[in-house]
Amino acid sequence: MPAPTIPELLDTMDYGPSPESPKPALAWLDEHQRRFGHFIGGQWCPGSGHFASVNPADGSELAQVAQAGAAEVEAAVQAAQAAQPAWAALGGPGRARHLYALARALQRHARVFSVLETLDNGKPFRETRDVDVPLAVRHFYHHAGWAQLLDAEFAGHEALGVVGQIVPWNFPLLMLAWKIAPALACGNTVVFKPAEQTSLTALRFADLCREVGLPPGVVNVVTGDGAVGQAIVDHPGIAKIAFTGSTEVGRAIRRATAGSGKRLSLELGGKSPFIVFHDADLDAAVEGLVESIWFNQGQVCCAGSRLLVQEGVAARLTAKLERRIAQIRVGDPLDKSTDMGALVDRTQWQRVHGYVERARAEGARIVQAPGALAAVGGAGASLELDALKGCYYPPTLVCDVESSFEIVRDEVFGPVLTVQTFRTPAEAVELANNTAYGLAACVYSESVSLALDVAPRLKAGVVWINAANLFDAACGFGGYRESGFGREGGREGLREYLRRVAGPAGQTAATGAAPGGVAQAAATREGSSVATGAAAIDRSPKFYVGGKQARPDGGTTRVLQSTDGSVIGSVPEGNRKDIRNAVEAARSAEAWSRQSAHGRAQVLYYLAENLDAQRARVVQVLGTTLGEAAAQAEVDQAIGHLFTAAAWADKHDGAVHQPPLHGVVLALNEPMGVIALIAPDASPLAGLLALAAPAMAMGNRVVVVPSRRHPLVSAELTVLADTSDLPGGVLNLVTGDADALGDTLAAHSEVMAFWAPQATPAQAARFEALSAATLKRTWVAFEADGGPCHTDAREVLEQATQVKNVWVPYGT
Ligand code: NDP
Repeated sequence: MPAPTIPELLDTMDYGPSPESPKPALAWLDEHQRRFGHFIGGQWCPGSGHFASVNPADGSELAQVAQAGAAEVEAAVQAAQAAQPAWAALGGPGRARHLYALARALQRHARVFSVLETLDNGKPFRETRDVDVPLAVRHFYHHAGWAQLLDAEFAGHEALGVVGQIVPWNFPLLMLAWKIAPALACGNTVVFKPAEQTSLTALRFADLCREVGLPPGVVNVVTGDGAVGQAIVDHPGIAKIAFTGSTEVGRAIRRATAGSGKRLSLELGGKSPFIVFHDADLDAAVEGLVESIWFNQGQVCCAGSRLLVQEGVAARLTAKLERRIAQIRVGDPLDKSTDMGALVDRTQWQRVHGYVERARAEGARIVQAPGALAAVGGAGASLELDALKGCYYPPTLVCDVESSFEIVRDEVFGPVLTVQTFRTPAEAVELANNTAYGLAACVYSESVSLALDVAPRLKAGVVWINAANLFDAACGFGGYRESGFGREGGREGLREYLRRVAGPAGQTAATGAAPGGVAQAAATREGSSVATGAAAIDRSPKFYVGGKQARPDGGTTRVLQSTDGSVIGSVPEGNRKDIRNAVEAARSAEAWSRQSAHGRAQVLYYLAENLDAQRARVVQVLGTTLGEAAAQAEVDQAIGHLFTAAAWADKHDGAVHQPPLHGVVLALNEPMGVIALIAPDASPLAGLLALAAPAMAMGNRVVVVPSRRHPLVSAELTVLADTSDLPGGVLNLVTGDADALGDTLAAHSEVMAFWAPQATPAQAARFEALSAATLKRTWVAFEADGGPCHTDAREVLEQATQVKNVWVPYGT
């Protein structure tokens, strides 16, 4: 028989087995007799209610893990509380040494961590070795650097205290690093809970904390199911919750923490679009898709699970994809030639399979490579979990779908890609944004101007251009809309773990104001307006909505009397419908967000100029309730705030990050969109503008409920806006009851951020609970009633923006 030719050999050559040994990881499990307690105060505590941690690739039990109860959570919080003052007092450079030691130790034990993660989670060893562990290491190094620089870069900030951190099972160690490294860098201590399916690398990390001499109590690890997470969320000793997981649980946590004063960051689900334009390098796009949806078996919150391809190249790309998925090797996760391992557990397998089968029933065409599961016991014809050696699922394409299909709308969290087409860039953007989520997006095009034009129009926290699933500690990660709020990584990620230390008080207090203001004494008369004196012409203040004055829907007007009983004016009472109209006007004024920063600054300067010109009248009106001196001060400060906001408009820049990549990452500060503001009572004009002006400067449109005590300011602002070229809908004013109007705004789906600086505890609890439905960012109860109005523009600017990271790799 003739010897095979080289081309024949290349065609027939198969991968040889290349298994990684599980021994070092199993030896560590054996050291612990394969039975773990909780790690509290630097010690292993026995724990109870043990359950099995199972290897999803073969169903074998790896270890017994404890189920924490209220007592263990209490002990962990107490240990963290006891450790926190000394940890903060250690100072940034002192903490930097510890973080550096953790990074080094993680690197030293990289192999054990990678193997353990693969055994516990089912993901390929190649990924844990090349992605999960190196990125976790990088996070600790990067944040060791931030700890070193903290005092200089975040002067006037302090740690929050004890933070509760809850993570899912898809990137157990990496999520731990994302959470623990910044928290520790900032001087917080931690109570950490891994997912019940994948606790082992967190427990191994606990051992590492002892090894490097981290002070006891700085990191505490409690294991168990969702009830443990809930106990952490509910604990009054916790200052902040950082959560990654499903949108449903994130929403429940929002409700549970409403009004508690706990800080919250939520990194939730996604249904990310992967957009391929006709001029894209299609082979690169195929590899991008492999990275995007078949990485980690598709169990990635930012997986590009919706392929949107331009019609002209759709058939070619789909054909390439069908060929490519047949080459994806599904098999033993420890084998280094495996591309896809096992899903995390049987429940997840059933969930993914259920989605695919329901899509088939809805009329979708399902493409799964025959034989993809041959190496793991699958026959190829029918897919049955019990016939497989573990929780393996083949790479799956779902074609011929509509946007209304369940599989296009829901996060499947598996190796399943839906395919849809579009004709124009505008249609691509519309389809991409047609989801409640907003975590990530990929854009494939060889045209840099097209890609960079589309990126800012995508409602997503991260956009990768001609790339997918790139992460780095220097670049913030997090979502828009129902993908949550807050960022992890980068400078913006640190802010989540810091609070500003209160500055000198009393700068702008509304001196001279009667504590209750006139509104306290006001009576309500329906449908009446008020004559303010024999010679005066009757004035009927209205709302300001969409650049026009608007009458109250309910036809109700509140009459204002001074403390001696004389009538000083009237204001309309808004209702739910008035708020809806105002939000609609704000939503429609989107052009303001696209206006140049220079242009927005010009309008803000003009507002300041006109306020100065209208000073006499404004002082007279405000003086009726505040007294003249305080009214003068209000106008001065308000002009100052407008000037400051105008000054910042073109300076609150993003950043260019340089992660370890041939390329750059553009961190863009994008406006939130529509911001609702329940204006402070203490400083009715300056306090309102201290918040609304920077918000507008950043391109937001605001719906304001002016001070209840001093509502006459509304009419003055209306005149001001009308005379200053402020486009309609950018500033909207609806006077009325802060409780009722605030409730409507907090629940409104088009309001992206809700601010109520002087909310009472009861209001804060209600507003935040109502915000949970749409997962909007809230900023409530941050100023004492009667205290100074908010003067730190930078903090307002940060609240008024969210960071989008656009990854732009270079080269081919
Ligand atoms: P969950 O949101 O249920 O779990 C995430 C973490 O929160 C786990 O540690 C979990 O504990 C804990 N938890 C559960 N309930 C509560 C609660 N009431 N209060 C506080 N903590 C709680 O996600 P699952 O793991 O169940 O996954 C379900 C689906 O969520 C996936 O199929 C996927 O669609 C999505 N998901 C999204 C992720 C993302 O990164 N965006 C990550 C993981 C899941 P325990 O697991 O131990 O019960």
